[in-house]
This record gives sequence, C-alpha cells and structure tokens, in this order.
Amino acid sequence: MSKIVCTIGPNTCDIESIERLAETGMDIVRLNMSHGTHDWHRTVIYNAREVNAKGRFNLGILLDTKGPEVRSGDLKAPIKVKRGQKFIWTIRKDVETFDDFTVDVSYDDFVNDVHIGDTLLVDGGMCSFLCTEVTGTDVVSECVDGGTLTSRRHLNVRGKSASLPAITAKDWEDIKFGMEMNVDFYALSFVKHEDDVATLRDYLRENNSKALVLSKIESADAVKRLQPILEVSDGAMVARGDLGAEIPIEDVPLVQDQIVNINRALRKPTIVATHMLESMITYPTPTRAEVADITEAVRQGADATMLSGETANGSYPYKALHVMVTVAESVVSQDSALSENDLFSPVLRSQESNLQDPRLDLAYGASTMASRLNVAAIVVFTRVGTYAKLVASTRPRCPIIAFTPDGDLVRRLTLFWGVKPIQLDFSTDPEETVSRAVELLVEKGLTSTGDTIVITSDMLVKDNNTVNTIQVRTVH
Ligand code: ATP
Ligand code: MG
Ligand code: MG
Repeated sequence: MSKIVCTIGPNTCDIESIERLAETGMDIVRLNMSHGTHDWHRTVIYNAREVNAKGRFNLGILLDTKGPEVRSGDLKAPIKVKRGQKFIWTIRKDVETFDDFTVDVSYDDFVNDVHIGDTLLVDGGMCSFLCTEVTGTDVVSECVDGGTLTSRRHLNVRGKSASLPAITAKDWEDIKFGMEMNVDFYALSFVKHEDDVATLRDYLRENNSKALVLSKIESADAVKRLQPILEVSDGAMVARGDLGAEIPIEDVPLVQDQIVNINRALRKPTIVATHMLESMITYPTPTRAEVADITEAVRQGADATMLSGETANGSYPYKALHVMVTVAESVVSQDSALSENDLFSPVLRSQESNLQDPRLDLAYGASTMASRLNVAAIVVFTRVGTYAKLVASTRPRCPIIAFTPDGDLVRRLTLFWGVKPIQLDFSTDPEETVSRAVELLVEKGLTSTGDTIVITSDMLVKDNNTVNTIQVRTVH
C-alpha cells in the first residue's frame, strides 16, 4: 500500500535491473540531476518505458533537480583525509596541476561565500574542514573530522546557504529536458520559499505539463515556511540528509512528522527519503534502527519511502528494496500498527472545515463501507485523478484500483497511498465501463470470482451530468 521510490544509478540503469526492481516492489524511478549526463538519464527513461510497455508496471519517473547546491568535482580515486591535513578547494579548472589534496568546486562564487573560520561539511558532516585562508581562486582549509572524499560530494558551509538562485540555470536546462521526456514528477531541491515552487508549477502548466511538483524540504529556510510551501506544492519529499546539516539533527524526526501531518491534512503525498537503509549500501542486512525508521515513516502515514545510494550504487540493491517492501507490508498488514492513522482518525476529520469538496464525503463513505464489508478492493473511476487522490487520503486498508483513460495520469497516480492505477478508455455507457473494468481486474488477478468490491466514481453520465455513486458488487 505504501509506495517505494528507487534512485537509479550505474548499478541499476539497464532494462533488466529496472524490471527486477519493479518486480521487487519499486513504484517510481528517481533520477538525480546532480549526477549523470542527459544522455545517461534519457537511456534510463527509455529503459523504464520499455519495462512499462510490457504491460505489468506503470513506473513513474521522478526528476530530482540539483538545485542551488555546491559540489566537489570528479575524482580519479577516492581521497583519504586525516585530521590536521591541509586541503584546498579551488575554482581553478586546470585539474591536471592539482596535488593530492586539492579538489575543484562546481561553483565560482564559492570563494566569495566562504570566509576564514567557516566550517565546511562534506555530505552533511561525513567529514569536515575549517577554512584558514581564502584567495581569489582557492579556499584553503584544515581537516577537522577526517574521512574519505569521493566524486561529486555535497558541500555545506555550516549555517550558510550558497548565494545561488533558487532554481539555477542548470536546473532550468534539466527541467526542459524533463519536459521533453515527459517525466511525471519534479522534486525541487533546496526549496526556500513558496514562490520558487509556484514559479516551476506555473511554468509547467503554461507548457501543458501536468507533472507534479514535489518540494524537497532540506533547508532551514524551508522549515520556517512549511505550511505555505506545502500549500503550493503537489507534494513533498523529506530530504533528511541536507536537512540534518542545516537544522539540529535531533529536530529532523520532528520536522518529518510535521511535514507528513500537514500534507495529510492537505491530502497531498509525502516521500520520506535519505539514509533509510544506508548500511545496506555495504552490508546484506539492515540495522534494526533502519527497520524501525521505515516502520515509523509508514506508520506516520507517509505515502512513500525512498532508497538512494542503496539502489543507485550499493552492493545489494534488490535485497535493500526487498527489506523496504517487507517492513512496509508488515506495518500495513498488522491492524494495531496503523490504528492511529486509519480512516477514522479524528485529527484528520476535524481539519476538514476548509475543504468543502462533497467528493470527500463520498470518499470517506466508500472507504468506510470497504472497511466494514472487508472487500477485496475499492474501484475508482477518475479522469483527472482528484477523486482517486481523495480516496487514497482516507487511507482505506484495501487496494484502490484507479481506472483512468489518461495514459500519463496512470504514472502520476503511482505515488499515492494504496493506488493501483490502470488505463482504461471510458465508454459513454457507465455500466459498460464498469463491466470492462471488472473483467480487467479478474484478468490481471487483482480480484477473483466471488469477491466483493466497492465501486465509486464521480463519473460523467449522459448530458454532461455528474452522478456520484458508491456501489457494492460481487465479482462474477
Ligand atoms: P542528493 O542530496 O540530491 O540526494 P546524493 O549525492 O545524496 O544527492 P543520491 O541520489 O542520494 O545522491 O544517490 C546516492 C549516491 O549514488 C550518489 O552520491 C552517487 O554517488 C550515486 N549516484 C546516484 N545517481 C547517480 C548517477 N546517475 N550516476 C552516478 N552515480 C549516481
Ligand atoms: Mg539533490
Ligand atoms: Mg541523497
């Protein structure tokens, strides 16, 4: 019922790997524009589409922007750095002249943003450096916490943000690439203000893209403006890596909880991301704390959890995904585990006053009936997806099979809790559409003869009238 986003990297980019990830439980492919070329990403998208074309999956594609972040350059080999080591970060491009402890930085204003006494954090604190000198081209530093530096590591200056625009020139190029490729989701990195999100959303809509814009909450500024940012977004990602470098780490779980709760009240999806099974990049089995972390995210009511390095360049991509699947399933299948988040949650119901959509009552009605009658599935007919999303937001315990004629919407619906989207052309005769849908369910093995299902829709019928219905049917 809860969805899984997998980052694709060098270990998992071919068709066979993507198909195997889909079979194991991946719902959405994530492409991180901080890494890889457009050609590489294009190939991955084609590969995912090829897997979809076989008819068993509707993998969605999520393009994650690089955002206003600073990264170190490519390295031929990892560099081991010990405490006290002098280390140079430079904007010089003559890489061949660098000594063993010099690395280039992707952003020319780095030398203006960093000052003597600043602390530089690599990947949110995996290793750190104290700035001792700044020249026209170099930031000279001394290693404080040692570690191993690899290619394209993320650099933070503790307590400061880079003076880059919210959506950089590279981001716009990547977004245009995404539009050419018709990707389904954009994850906007380092969102600071709701206006940045609105800019991207307006741009997409003006260019006829219905892709969803997910705000990545990973900066201290975003935490101060959660409500307005989440209100203009189509959903959010809790990007805990950088978030933990910008705000005290002990606050990260609380902010995660806040984001999931605000979004559940807004009936928008949340992805919980970063470090979920980090140890499985190297080991075949997770730490118990990691298992507890996945459990917590699913129990909170996040729509999706995510894997990063675990599937991008880890040693056990399928094992890691399998662990995520089994842990999430265990939460959802044990009634007591989810009790506070189910459809009778008083918290959510009391926040409805500003949402006057009558379909919400229909959605709750359908979910309540489904739960009492213990049906095999709720079947929803939806043209633009709103109604399927509303039903998902009530968190029924059975799958929500969403039929839609829109071939793109099918992939966007993959993100929503419990929704299994299927493309189906609607007939002008609703009864015919319903019979065809039920046939498809049986064909695909999603229900069997004798099962009870709840069917609900706000479908157009004759003469452009909308009729809201909830039906209980037995599958014949
Ligand atoms: P972000 O902060 O945006 O998540 P990240 O560097 O943590 O950036 P992830 O997408 O979380 O990147 O992936 C984890 C690691 O997997 C990366 O640091 C990188 O080493 C590797 N990786 C991911 N995508 C690619 C890719 N397309 N090509 C090469 N390596 C990749
Ligand atoms: Mg990023
Ligand atoms: Mg990451």
